[in-house]
Amino acid sequence: MNEHNKEEFPPAHTAEHLLNQVMVRLFGCERSYNAHIERKKSKMSFHLAQKPSRQEEKAIEREMERLIDEDLSVTFEMVRREDVPEGVRLDRLPADASETIRLVRIGDYDVCPCIGRHVRSTSQIGRFELLGTNWDEHEHSFRVRFKIV
Ligand SMILES: [Zn+2]
Repeated sequence: MNEHNKEEFPPAHTAEHLLNQVMVRLFGCERSYNAHIERKKSKMSFHLAQKPSRQEEKAIEREMERLIDEDLSVTFEMVRREDVPEGVRLDRLPADASETIRLVRIGDYDVCPCIGRHVRSTSQIGRFELLGTNWDEHEHSFRVRFKIV
């Protein structure tokens, strides 16, 4: 098993999984390339084709609220590297990652390899509050700042 590099606050860390998939689905982007997840405030950055509109930003928040309300179960399973489902990217695991991968699923909504700590279902995340966003036109980088309350 790989070591998780930081001891994260499980509700915020689980929100990180959800927000990654919300962004992938809404914008067709990759999961965040940079994330700082903390108990009080978190931020995640994504590479996007263009700056999201106000409505799109609202849609991010609405989707997060909907997924939390749905109380999706968070489960994990151990699979061999060659049995990882198609579309699940392992390229962020260290090169010396073990042959057995821990996959974390949130309902049927998201699956990704992770050994961090999570809540058991999405309602335990609490309330997702979008604090603000930043757009870097040069980098085409969209940063989402949020907190869990
Ligand atoms: Zn995780």
